Formats: sequence, structure tokens, C-alpha cells
Amino acid sequence: MTQTAPGTVPAPVPLERVTHWIDGKAFAGVTERTAPVYDPALGTVRTEVPLASVDEVDQAVASAAAAFASWRNSSLTKRTQVLFAFRELVNQHKQELAELITAEHGKVVSDALGEVTRGLEVVEFACGIPHLLKGGYSEGVSTNVDVYSIRQPVGVCAVISPFNFPVMVPMWFVPIAIAAGNAVVLKPSEKDPSASLLVARLWEQAGLPAGVFNVVHGDKVAVDRLLEHPEVKAVSFVGSTPIARYVYETGTRNGKRVQALGGAKNHMVVLPDADLDLAADAAVNAGFGSAGERCMAISALVVVEPVADDLVARIRERIAGLKIGDGRRSCDMGPLVTREHRDRVASYLDAGVEAGAELVVDGRKVQVDGDESGFWLGPSLLDRVSPEMSVYTDEIFGPVLSVVRVGSYDEALKLVNSNPYGNGTAIFTNDGGAARRYQNEVEVGMVGVNVPIPVPMAYYSFGGWKDSLFGDSHAHGAEGVHFFTRGKVVTSRWLDPSHGGINLGFPENV
Ligand code: NAD
Repeated sequence: MTQTAPGTVPAPVPLERVTHWIDGKAFAGVTERTAPVYDPALGTVRTEVPLASVDEVDQAVASAAAAFASWRNSSLTKRTQVLFAFRELVNQHKQELAELITAEHGKVVSDALGEVTRGLEVVEFACGIPHLLKGGYSEGVSTNVDVYSIRQPVGVCAVISPFNFPVMVPMWFVPIAIAAGNAVVLKPSEKDPSASLLVARLWEQAGLPAGVFNVVHGDKVAVDRLLEHPEVKAVSFVGSTPIARYVYETGTRNGKRVQALGGAKNHMVVLPDADLDLAADAAVNAGFGSAGERCMAISALVVVEPVADDLVARIRERIAGLKIGDGRRSCDMGPLVTREHRDRVASYLDAGVEAGAELVVDGRKVQVDGDESGFWLGPSLLDRVSPEMSVYTDEIFGPVLSVVRVGSYDEALKLVNSNPYGNGTAIFTNDGGAARRYQNEVEVGMVGVNVPIPVPMAYYSFGGWKDSLFGDSHAHGAEGVHFFTRGKVVTSRWLDPSHGGINLGFPENV
């Protein structure tokens, strides 16, 4: 790998010791266990994160449970005032949040800003909570009897998030949970924990009472305690499929409602009539943005012949124009999150070639605008990949795009539907009928038509099918509000004082 001389880099975000956030205060923790947090563009340890013990998780849950008792009765007016204030504060601190994300995740600052903006959409959605919580009312279902429905908070909710969106993914859940009257314990990824603390401070400044939002850092010990703690009533998890399955099975066995969003292998199908320049742009943006570390990244490019040679040539040309380097400089793509992850992703290039794929672009040879110790791997393109190769079957979660050539739409559809994952997919075509057929026939939760990363807006719900989601509820939108509330139906009779009498029969409406 070639390195250029380091250019001018803005000063790194000042180091702050990572702490938990419990009961409205930073809490350093008392356990000895810690994990290193890297700056992936420099390849150095930036800081350390404490890994919570069972006792420390219990403290956070106790604080949340105590705060829930009064927060659940706070007026909708009070809650929306806090949410609107929080929205303003996140907007004001957007750049700071983005720089923190870049310092620990590695994605370029403009991409990190986009992540914060997409998270803010959910805050804005949650600002409408008075409308979202409106129930139904039926007057006079029987003589003097009215029936109405209300939705109430569930209690203490745990949110367990992955490294790839340290601000946006928690925001898929936390604002809605809080708006609905719940208290939250967030367990962020230990790889990029710092942004969650700034977010905690912003909640505090917005006027959220202490204990309604808590952050505990940790690993399996913390997650397991949250999954078994009797006071935790709901768990929202996002991460890889094996852990999502484990969280779902363990959490539900312990009587909690669980939504566990898992991994992905997203296919982009290109039909021969597609605009190939548009498709090439989309494949590069969705394959290599955030170094392919997005759950909605395009990983498999399924091209219906005879246009594969042409499309591969256009993608190769675009890759050559990408600038890879430190996310604090004006680059297109940053490093991968850790050295181990970079090495694992790079190993798929050899595995692909050994299995018979053609390595069109080898990201290991990329020229980098950044420190030579960073966790670099440039955009890589494998052609003539077939479905039994590990580069196709595994979720790689890095900047590796695999081209699978097929002979027909039916073959493409069969391939996508045979895959165990079903998070996102896209079809590129100028044929409205084909696109309509695809949206109907494909077994995937989020579909793009000439849109490569079809992440739904906050007022719709985000979630995949099959091994990409365990549980019944997708994130945010109406399903999010439903997940964070319990329905209650009240049947009330206000009797005329002269009315009454004994009747042991099952109530009939008259
Ligand atoms: P991960 O599964 O390693 O970690 C996710 C969370 O689980 C972290 O908080 C981590 O500390 C915790 N965890 C890890 N191992 C655990 C264990 N053995 N027991 C209990 N908890 C454990 O995922 P990651 O590497 O942080 O994130 C990348 C993955 O997340 C990819 O698979 C990606 O597709 C997926 N993802 C999915 C979505 C989606 O919406 N479906 C969104 C973002 C990321």
C-alpha cells in the first residue's frame, strides 16, 4: 500500500475519558475492565472505555426505574418541550458529534454529518408524540357505556447498538422511547463510545430529568445483564445476525419484548435496460460509502447480461477517481474500524480469487492520504463471483463489491430470494413494469427502485426480513411507537343513579 506524505489535519477532537452516564451524571465506574478505543485513521489507541460490571448495569437500571415512575406521568407538553429543545441542541452540536464519530469510527466527516441528520429525523418524528399517542373512543357501545383505547409506556427500555452508526442507530429508538414516557439504558458499541456521552449531555441540557436516559458501556457482561434484569421490559438491538438471534432468544425467554435487527447482504439488481452511468454511480456510492460498513451497503451487484462488461468498466473507472484517506481531510472514503476487521475483510479478496473470481480492483494497493498505520483498505471489485463463494455467502462489511452475472430477471430474483438475509435491495431499470414486479416478488424488507440505499424516512419503519430481523417490530415510524407502548382498552359506564341491579351473565351489549 502506498502512502502520501501527511497533509494538514485539523486538530483531533480533544480526548475525554469515556465514562458511563448514570442518573444524570458522568460515572467513571469502579471495575478494572476496559477496552481500547482506536482512531482508525491513525491506527493508535485514542482512549479507553470502561466495561461495566453487573453491579454497574444494575445501578443504571435502578436509576432508570426510579426516573420512569415520574417521567411516565409527565405531560405530553413537557415531553415535547424536551424533545424540541433536544432537536435544537443536536443541530447546534452536529459538527462536534460528526467529528467524534470520525475520530473513532473512521468514516469521513461529511458522511458522519449525514448520519447525525438521519438521526435527527427520528427526533423530529418523536416531537409529534401527542398525535402519535392518540387513542380511539367509541361513545355508547352499550347503554351508557363508552370504550376507549390508550397507549402507555412499557418501563425501562434497553438499547444495544453497533459500531457503524454510533449516533443514528441509538436515535432510531431513544427519542421515541423517551417521548412515549419510558426510561432508557443505552449500551453503545465499545468501539466508538464517545458520541453517546455528548448525546447524554445534550439530553440533560434539553431538560430531561436525571435517570430517564442512561449510558452504560460494556461488552457481553453488560448485554447479558440487561437481557436478564427483571426491570428491563423491552430490548432494541442492532448488530450482527448471530448476536441479534442470541439477544432475541435470550430476551424473549426472560419475558421481554425484543426487536433485534441483524446483518445483511444487500443485492443491487441491474437490468439490461438500466441507465448504466446511474447504476455505476449508485454501485460505487452504496458499495464504498462509509467503507462498506453500512447495514444497507450494496455488497452483491447482480447484473443481467449482456451489460456486465460495460458496467464493470464504468465502475472501475469511477473507483480510480476516489480519494481514500483520513476522514478529517476531504476524502471520499476513510479507514475500516479496527485492524482485525480490516484484515478479515482483506482476506476475502484472496478467498475470492482462490475460488475463481476475477479481482478487477485490489484495494490493498490503494494510495492513501493518511497515516500509514491507519486501518486502510481501498475499494475492491471482484467480478464473476458465484453464489457458493464465501465472498458471496458471508456478510463482509467492508469495501468489497462482488459482481454476479446472471442471464435473466428470474435468475436474479431467485438469487436474491435464496439469500438468508433480507435487509435492503435495489433494482436499476427503466422498465416500470419490471420494477413493480420486483417490489412485489422480492423477499426483502426495504426496496429501492433506482435508489441504492433505500433507508426509509423516520415516519416509515426501518427493518429487514429473514435473518436480518428477529421479532415483529421494525424500528421507528408507527412500528417504533407501537413497540415502546402497551395498549390498554377501557370500558366505562357512568350510571344514571337510578340504574343498577344484579346480573351474573357474561356482559352483553344492549
Ligand atoms: P456486533 O453484533 O458485533 O455488536 C453489536 C452490539 O452487540 C455491540 O453493542 C456489542 O458490544 C454487542 N455484542 C457483541 N458481541 C456480543 C456477545 N457475544 N454477546 C452480547 N453482546 C454482544 O455488531 P457490530 O460489529 O458492532 O456491527 C456491525 C453489524 O451490525 C453488521 O452485521 C451490520 O449488518 C449490523 N447492522 C445491522 C443494522 C440493521 O439495521 N439491520 C444496522 C446497523 C448495523
